[in-house]
This record gives sequence, structure tokens and C-alpha cells, in this order.
Amino acid sequence: METILVVNAGSSSLKFQVFGIAGGLNRLLKGNLEGIGTAPHLTIKSASGERVLTEDFPSDIVPDLPAAMRLVGERLRERHQGQLIAVGHRVVHGGPNHIRPARIDEGLVRELERYTPLAPLHQPNNLAPIRVLLERRPELVQVACFDTAFHRTHDRIADHYAIPVHYFEEGVRRYGFHGLSYEYVAERLAEIAPNVGGGRVIVAHLGSGASMCALNAWRSVESTMGFTALDGVPMGTRCGQIDPGVLLYLLMQHRMSASQLQDLLYKESGLKGLSGISNDVRNLLASDAPGAMLALDHFVYRIGLNAGALAAAIGGLDAFVFTAGVGENSPIMRARIGEKLGWLGASLDPARNEAGDVLISSDRSKVAIYVVPTDEELMIARHTLALIAAPITGTNGPNSRKVGYDS
Ligand code: ADP
Repeated sequence: METILVVNAGSSSLKFQVFGIAGGLNRLLKGNLEGIGTAPHLTIKSASGERVLTEDFPSDIVPDLPAAMRLVGERLRERHQGQLIAVGHRVVHGGPNHIRPARIDEGLVRELERYTPLAPLHQPNNLAPIRVLLERRPELVQVACFDTAFHRTHDRIADHYAIPVHYFEEGVRRYGFHGLSYEYVAERLAEIAPNVGGGRVIVAHLGSGASMCALNAWRSVESTMGFTALDGVPMGTRCGQIDPGVLLYLLMQHRMSASQLQDLLYKESGLKGLSGISNDVRNLLASDAPGAMLALDHFVYRIGLNAGALAAAIGGLDAFVFTAGVGENSPIMRARIGEKLGWLGASLDPARNEAGDVLISSDRSKVAIYVVPTDEELMIARHTLALIAAPITGTNGPNSRKVGYDS
């Protein structure tokens, strides 16, 4: 059986999934090697969640991502009979020019390494497994799928910061992230609601990382994230939008170093910083501490505010979509956010919301409200398959990839 491997490499974990391709994409395995360099632990499950393998390793056996990639490759070869024909990688940054996934070669890796200063916490991790496979399996097709690519349909005006324009040319511009998630959701909407979904839509990807995207006619027009994945709505531990004057204050008055500031903004802020309790919405909902209430109220308020800005970018709103951990699983948070959309003519149906239906707006709502579970891995597998199937035309944009797939 021919298979595609999807790899999503982070700072201390390597997540992967295996898809069969016969008769459409078919998820076979999901795995995670976490605790890389500290307490490596490998889990492999079947697509339906049954455990296939768990294994612990001494930290010196899996000290880094290259070692993790080699180990995962070995285990998959031992346990899995499929014939691997391609690997699709999540790569956070494709820079200003990549508008679609790209087949990987040495030249592309060198180019993508140049974007490391733009995403220092993610890009090197994403590229490490690619390097290992280029060395060990040079004949294997590898495809880079960028979180930024889906947003390259933005008007140039939207992607500027109002600082001297040469910084834009240097790469200091608004890129937007979570693009693979938005692209997947756009494709699902094309199936669920082809008419409404092709209009003016806001998708709220609310997970531990959170952002929102305005779509018009399936294309990304605006995103709350910008130069980095720090901007926009507050997240589990990231601050979201902040006055740059605050950063100057912290640098000058608190004499913070750049790395202290980085830690503060990425790891100690957002829901965690505001509540002083947790970065997890579930814990905050379960707590009656004032900090928990403050954090959730602020989260909901900022999402409402950003919805207004995004609606302005697309001149109104036909549909609003919830996705990712909070959006998919929390009727309470959906209801609270839904209330903030009331002025746009949106109203939730409480029973549909509680049941987690696909369409959760009331019959009288002027805005259709949907819950659409995201699937970034399937999106990567689709792109990888499409690039193998049509290496010259490639794929990009929600209307242009109709290679036979299935989940
Ligand atoms: P990631 O950004 O890591 O992919 P997810 O999209 O899986 O994250 O979202 C994880 C977050 O979703 C958790 O931190 C938690 O706050 C939230 N979450 C998951 N399930 C629920 C739930 N039932 N109620 C509220 N929040 C939830």
C-alpha cells in the first residue's frame, strides 16, 4: 500500500500521521514523539485512537529533532508495511513569495533557512526533519506546506506596517499564520455551505494558539496574526495585540533583555498571564477565581473586537466559523462570543450550539454560524498528494484542488 507521511515538528515534539492513498486519502496512523531531549516518549495510535505503540527512551537516544525523525522512521518501517512515497511537512514560514506548497530540494531548504530570523522558534524545528530525510532518503519526494501561503492573497496595503517602507522589502510585513487550518475550513465550507461559504466569512481558529481570518470568495483577505504568531487575539500563553510602547517600556524601565521579553510575550502572557491560573480554557471555566473570569472576559472581548475589524475588511458578514480546541469543543465560549456578534445580525440557536451541530445559528440569524473541526494534517496530505499527482500545475486556493481525496 502506498502511503504519505505528514510531519509537524515543534521544539520538543515531532507529531506525525500516515495516510494511505489508494482510492482517496485514508488516515492510518497518528503519532507523537514528545519530550525530545528530556524524557522522550513515543505514542502511535490507529486512526480511530487505539494505541498501537508506546515507548520511552533515555534522553541521550533522542537528544534532538534529527534523532527523533530517524527514530520515527525506523519504528514506522518496523511496524508498518506501507510503501512511503512522499512526506509532507508543516513549515511555518514560506516568506513573502510562496503562495502554495512546494516540492523540497536543497535550494528550497537554503531559501527557507533564510526565513529563520522571521520565525526563530519554529522554522529551524520545521526544517530539521527535512534535512535528515534529504540526507538519508534523497529519492523521497518531500513537500513543504506553509502556514503563511494561504494569506498571500492579501492586498499589499493590508500587509504593511506604518514604518519606513524599506523594512517591508526586508521582510517586516504582515504574513498571517494558521493558513493550513483556514484552507481546510474553506474546503469544508465549500462542501457544507457552498453558497454562504463563498461569501464574506470570518473563521475563528481558537486553540492554544488563536487567530481569526476574513475570507471573501474563499480567499484570505485579512488575518489577526501579522509578522509573527504573537499578534491578534490573546492566546493560551501569547499576548496577542499589544501597543509597541509597552515593549519599549519593558526594555527601558524594566531593563528586560530580548530573550526575557520573548519569554514573557510567548510563554507567560495571554490567558495564563491574565488569570495567573492556567492557559487552558477548560481550567478557567471551572474556576471561580476573579483572575479566571478576567482572562475569559478579555478573551471574548478581544475576539468580538477583532470580528468587527475583520467584518470591516470584507464589508459585512455572511458566515462565522468556529474551529480548533476552544471553537470545536466549548458551547459556553461559542455562546459568549456569539453574543458579541449580535450587532452584525448574528444569533446562536442554544440547542444547536449545545449539541455541537455543524450549523449552530438560529433560523432568524442574518449570519450563518458554523462549527467546523479543522484538520491541518489532512490538508498537508492533500497538498502532498496533489503535488505528486500534478507536479507542474501544483495546487493553491480552495477552488483548485479536486484530486480524489477522502478522510
Ligand atoms: P493547539 O493550538 O495546540 O493545536 P488545540 O486546537 O488542540 O490546540 O486547542 C487546545 C485548547 O483548546 C486547550 O488549551 C483548551 O484551552 C481548549 N479546549 C479543548 N477542549 C475544550 C473544551 N471542552 N472546553 C473549552 N476549551 C477546550
